[in-house]
Amino acid sequence: MIKHIQGLHHVTSIASDPRANNAFFTGPLGLRRVKKTVNFDAPDVYHLYYGDEVGTPGGVMTYFPFPNAVRGRPGGGEVGTTRFSIPRGTARAWADRLSGSGVTASESTGPFGETLLSFSGPDGDAFALVESDDPRDPWTGGGLSADMAIRGFHSALLRPRDNGATEELLRFMGYEEVDRRNGVLRLAIGGGNAANVIDVETLPAADWAAQGAGSVHHIAFSVKDRQTQDAVRKALTDTGYRVTPPIDRDYFWAIYFRTPGGILFEVATDAPGFDRDEDRAHLGETLKLPRQHEHLRAQLERDLQPIGE
Ligand code: ZN
Repeated sequence: MIKHIQGLHHVTSIASDPRANNAFFTGPLGLRRVKKTVNFDAPDVYHLYYGDEVGTPGGVMTYFPFPNAVRGRPGGGEVGTTRFSIPRGTARAWADRLSGSGVTASESTGPFGETLLSFSGPDGDAFALVESDDPRDPWTGGGLSADMAIRGFHSALLRPRDNGATEELLRFMGYEEVDRRNGVLRLAIGGGNAANVIDVETLPAADWAAQGAGSVHHIAFSVKDRQTQDAVRKALTDTGYRVTPPIDRDYFWAIYFRTPGGILFEVATDAPGFDRDEDRAHLGETLKLPRQHEHLRAQLERDLQPIGE
């Protein structure tokens, strides 16, 4: 079994309009845009990162906004819901805040007894806020006080289309069963980061999801450094997974592999982090380009749609 996974690192989804995407995460959700860069494989498309002050792993929501993207169709073989953690007793105030921005949120009790506030992102993205005791320091520069602001990810609900192979994979990755209710398995990593919970709803017969705007593209798990990433890669490869070589993503190193249930997993290093090329006070303000795309800067600055602060 793998011992090095610490919990979630980031979740990357697809959006349509980059301006609406930026406005939603930095406005109602009160997150900080910690990086404005471009997709490594499609440099004419932004890659936007939102999180706490420095983009601490375990709370980084990232987007590829393709302006003409067609909306995705939910189904099996994808991450169903991405959940952020909020302080206890704040769901009602959050519902009011979201409603003030035209976002309808519905409060419910989750299968494991937690208070959930469910809502959709600008492209129909499935999100929830979960009340929990979470020790992480929130970003308070986005207009939300510390007694209300998002702490980072609480968990994600995976909806693999398989017969339990993704559950087995997560156990192999160090996750342990906490509970199973209403067809949902809750797993957690002991001693991990604060985003150490994964829920799995296995759907062997569901229609496959169609990926598009509002869909999660991949979900990334955190490891400390490249050495532990190599150990994880070897363990996965030895078990039969086809894992990419480590890829330099400027702010972390990444390896990717697909689960038997159709979900793209990434394992990403915590280092070097989002302040490697920008002063912490000004993270996410200017367009940063991967070195290989720097020669396109003039063209990209002209063609990429302005997204606001
Ligand atoms: Zn990623």
